[in-house]
Amino acid sequence: MSKLTGVVLSPIKDKLGELNYTSPFGYREFTYNGKTYKNYHYGIDITTLGTIVSIGDGKVIECRDGITGYDESKSSGNYVTIDHGNGIISMYCHLDNKSVAVKLNDRVKKGDKLGTDIIKTTGFSTGLHCHFAIKENSKWVNPVDYLKGIKKLDSNETNDEVYIVKKGDRIFMENNI
Ligand SMILES: [Zn+2]
Repeated sequence: MSKLTGVVLSPIKDKLGELNYTSPFGYREFTYNGKTYKNYHYGIDITTLGTIVSIGDGKVIECRDGITGYDESKSSGNYVTIDHGNGIISMYCHLDNKSVAVKLNDRVKKGDKLGTDIIKTTGFSTGLHCHFAIKENSKWVNPVDYLKGIKKLDSNETNDEVYIVKKGDRIFMENNI
């Protein structure tokens, strides 16, 4: 379980215990636009919209803004990655364009605003959601274990987001959709 300290237990501001998500962590196979995709989903897709906040204290080790919408080559869209120490990293993807509120190497506190997920998805994603992921000691783990009161939505199972890993891809950043 979580080795994070100072955890707010929700990446969506003021939505503690009310989070919904589609597309669970793990292997997935689905059809979109007549094409079948098979891949491993290294996070969950939180469909509860709002202000994205850091789940704990940490430091910004990756971020990007300026992606205006759907973009297959920049699958994470606008995103922020936070290093919390103790080998734990959290990642928040597909944020609204021009919403990223932090810069590289910024120190953040739990609950600090990272961006928003309200207006339009960005990256390789056609549904409005925040791809939320957690890494423990360089390995992606199921982020649900870190959140409180989250529940799986049964509807809209094929949430229209895919990424096919190709040779030469930057796995850390662009394998997250
Ligand atoms: Zn996702």
